[in-house]
Amino acid sequence: NRQIHLASRPHGAPTLDNFRLESVPVSRPEEGQLLLRTVYLSLDPYMRGRMSEGPSYAPPMAIGDVMIGGTVCRVAESRHPDYQPGDWVLSGNGWQDYAVSNGDGLLKLASDMKHPSHALGVLGMPGFTAYMGLLDIGQPKAGETLVVAAATGPVGATVGQIGKLKGCHVIGIAGGEEKCRHAVETLGFDACIDHRQPGFPEELARQCGEGIDIYYENVGGKVFDAVLPLLNTNARIPVCGVVAQYNSTGLPDGPDRLPLLLETILKKRMRMQGFIIFDDYGHRYGEFHEAMSAWYADGKIQYREQVVQGLENAPEAFIGLLEGKNFGKLVVQVGKV
Ligand code: NDP
Repeated sequence: NRQIHLASRPHGAPTLDNFRLESVPVSRPEEGQLLLRTVYLSLDPYMRGRMSEGPSYAPPMAIGDVMIGGTVCRVAESRHPDYQPGDWVLSGNGWQDYAVSNGDGLLKLASDMKHPSHALGVLGMPGFTAYMGLLDIGQPKAGETLVVAAATGPVGATVGQIGKLKGCHVIGIAGGEEKCRHAVETLGFDACIDHRQPGFPEELARQCGEGIDIYYENVGGKVFDAVLPLLNTNARIPVCGVVAQYNSTGLPDGPDRLPLLLETILKKRMRMQGFIIFDDYGHRYGEFHEAMSAWYADGKIQYREQVVQGLENAPEAFIGLLEGKNFGKLVVQVGKV
């Protein structure tokens, strides 16, 4: 059983020596348990936070722990009455080939699912995050302008497409021309702006001629600075993530912008609300799953995935995710289907 452990805590951006690959014997399931074989492992930005020691919404990983992560697995051996060998399940086995489970927290996937890995993306946690953050906190109305960054990732791409279904004018922000083209041509956004290009704030202002009613916050940093002056009265800001800041080691240089933010919140009567998807909305998963499965089956929501082959390549792929090297939902194929 190959496992990737947290070898040391990163200072700033993670490096390959923060991870260690080890091989241990495969554990055998006891009565009432089952052995799961990982087929797909999800790589997500939140994992960076768990590598650090500081306080957060969930406890950090300990040094030597198997890296955490959502997985799509097949039952390799079952001594559990509800599972048969070959069943597909969604679980959280982390960065390893095999894990024993007593069934807690497992979700059985339909055996005829065309793309089981999509349960880690649009039909799972990131899709759920997009759905609740936009609909419950963003409260989109037809004709409003919605801006979302990390626009081709699983959260941003889904946010923008749901925004279009609700009749919004949707402006994406992404890194690079190819991602921007994808957002417009495949995802159906009205425009997408490259945040790496000089003149990005001016271009954003030009595209948002009527201001911004909803800013779905995925990245923070310079993108938020460009958005702030464009927000309309009564703007809503679901604060989902600040990936541009996850590798920071301190506050940025430059003037303190907090007074400007507070003044803008007051004068524009804005609402900013953070949320942690399963903690705050776990009870609404069924509603999401029903709506998203129908949209997805009808071709109303497009989904792009980037599959990296081999568990041993997970660290490098994860480091790249925090730099925007992924294009679409990042998944590692750990074992054969
Ligand atoms: P993505 O697959 O979109 O990957 C992150 C993307 O962020 C990169 O591809 C890159 O896209 C962009 N990015 C990285 N650095 C910067 C930067 N400095 N400036 C601007 N953009 C940058 O991730 P997800 O869709 O999985 O997640 C999106 C956000 O949602 C994250 O912040 C994540 O933490 C958050 N999240 C929050 C949850 C919650 O419960 N609150 C649950 C799930 C996700 P590009 O090249 O286009 O810039």
